[in-house]
Amino acid sequence: MKSLIELQFDNRFARLGDAFSSDVLPEPIAEPRLVVASAAAMALLDLDPSEADSAVFAQIFSGHKLWSTAEPRAMVYSGHQFGGYNPRLGDGRGLLLGEVVNDAGDYWDLHLKGAGQTPYSRMGDGRAVLRSSIREFLASEHLHALGIPSSRALCVTGSSTPVWREKQESAAMVLRLAPSHVRFGHFEYFYYTQQHDQLKQLAEHVLHSHYAECLQQELPYLAMFREIVERNATLIAYWQAYGFCHGVMNTDNMSILGITFDYGPYAFLDDFDAQHICNHSDDTGRYSFSNQVPIAQWNLAALGQALVPLVEVDVLRESLSLFLPLYQAHYLDLMRKRLGLLSADAGDEALVQRLLQLMQSSAVDYNLFFRELGDSPAAEAVARLRDDFTDLASFDAWAADYLVRSAQDGDEQTQRRTRMHAVNPKYILRNYLAQDAIAAAEQGNYAPVRELHQVLSQPFDEQPGFERYAQRPPEWGKHLEISCSS
Ligand code: AMP
Ligand code: MG
Repeated sequence: MKSLIELQFDNRFARLGDAFSSDVLPEPIAEPRLVVASAAAMALLDLDPSEADSAVFAQIFSGHKLWSTAEPRAMVYSGHQFGGYNPRLGDGRGLLLGEVVNDAGDYWDLHLKGAGQTPYSRMGDGRAVLRSSIREFLASEHLHALGIPSSRALCVTGSSTPVWREKQESAAMVLRLAPSHVRFGHFEYFYYTQQHDQLKQLAEHVLHSHYAECLQQELPYLAMFREIVERNATLIAYWQAYGFCHGVMNTDNMSILGITFDYGPYAFLDDFDAQHICNHSDDTGRYSFSNQVPIAQWNLAALGQALVPLVEVDVLRESLSLFLPLYQAHYLDLMRKRLGLLSADAGDEALVQRLLQLMQSSAVDYNLFFRELGDSPAAEAVARLRDDFTDLASFDAWAADYLVRSAQDGDEQTQRRTRMHAVNPKYILRNYLAQDAIAAAEQGNYAPVRELHQVLSQPFDEQPGFERYAQRPPEWGKHLEISCSS
C-alpha cells in the first residue's frame, strides 16, 4: 500500500505533444472538503484507504497541490453531438493530470473534472457542480460493481466556490480513473482537420497502449477497430440488459475502450419503458433507451469514417456490420442469465421480448422483477409477481412458457437462487436515491452519499438494515427530470 506522494507517473499521452493537448494547471476551488472517496478505486492505484482522510488528499483533488511528476493537460477532440458535427470540443473543464503506473504495471489516467477553464472551454466556466460530481461518482463505482464496464471514480471534493447554473450552486471536482481518456472524437478531430500524420500517431498510441494484442494481426488498425466494435457491442448489451440509459451518446462521450464514459443525465429504468428519455434536453429522443443500440452503431460508423485514411473502407464496413449480431448474442446471453436459464433455446429471444412488452404495458419495476424471480422457486415466484401485471391472460401465458423453459434446465432452487442473485442486483442506483443523498450533501451532510456509495458497491448482496434502498421508488421519484447543465 502506498501513500499519495509515492504514486509513480509515466505520462504517455502528454508526450504525444502539443497537437494533442495543452498545458494547463488546475484552478483550485475554495475551502476544499472531501465529500466521498472510493476505497476500491484507491486500491487500483495501490493507495492505502486511510490516505483519503489526510489533508493533502482533499488539497490535491481540489487543485491546490500537485505532484511534480504530474503533467496536467487539456486534451483536444471534436465529435458529433446530437448527430451534428462540432469541429472543436476538448477538455473544457477537466484535466488529464497524468498517468499513474501501479505495482502490477497497469496504467491509470487521473482526470480531474471541474478543474477550471482551458483553451477548450468555449463559453463555459470550467467548473462542475457538486450535484453532477456526486452523480458521476456514484454511477461509476456502481456500474463497475454491477459488472458493467465503466470509468472509475476516486473521490469528490466539495468547496465554497459559487457556480451559476439555473441557480447558484457550489463547485466540486471529481477525480476520474480510466486506462485511457481517448474518445471517438479524438480520432474525428484529426480526421476532419486533415492532420493525417497525427491521426496515425494517435492510432499508434492507442494500439500500443491499449490494444497491443492487435499488433500480431496482419492489419493491426483494422483489428483494433474490430475489437472496439466488439467491446461496444458488449457494453450496450449490458446497458440494455440492466436498464441503463446514458442520455448523451455523442461521439465525444464514447470511450475508445468501450467503457461507460462521461456521466450526465443518465438513469436506470424504474418501470420498464423502452422509449424512456432521461435527458430533458433530448427533444427528439435520439438517445432514448431503445435507441442506444442503433446509436452506438452510428457512433462506431463515425469512428470508422475517421479511420478511412488508415484502413480500407470495405473492411471497416465489414467490421462495423459485426456490431448488431455481436450485440444481440451478448444481450440474449445476459437476459438468459437474468432469467436463470442455463441452456440456450431458439425460443429465448421471443420469451424475452414478450416479457418486456408485458412489463412495458403494466409499468413493472424492471430490476426488481428479476431479483424477485430468483427469490423463490420459479412457480411460486411467477405466482407472486403476477399481481404486478394488468394483462393477466398474457402474463399467465408467458409464465407457463417460462416454467416449461426453466424446467428444461432442471436445477434445484438453492442453486438457482444463488445463480440468479449473483446477476440480478437487489440495489440499483435510482435517480431519487441519488437525489436524496445530493440534497443532504448540498446542506453539508455527506453521510448519506457515503452510505449510498457503500450500499451500491455491493449491489448483489443482501445488506441487512439497508433494505430501504432496495424499495420501489415513490411516485415523486419515478420521473425526475435531470438537468443537463452540470
Ligand atoms: P459534456 O456535455 O459534459 O460531455 O461536454 C461537452 C463539451 O463541453 C466538452 O468539450 C466539455 O469539456 C465542455 N464543457 C461542458 N461543461 C463545461 C463547462 N462548465 N465549462 C467549460 N467547458 C464545458
Ligand atoms: Mg463529454
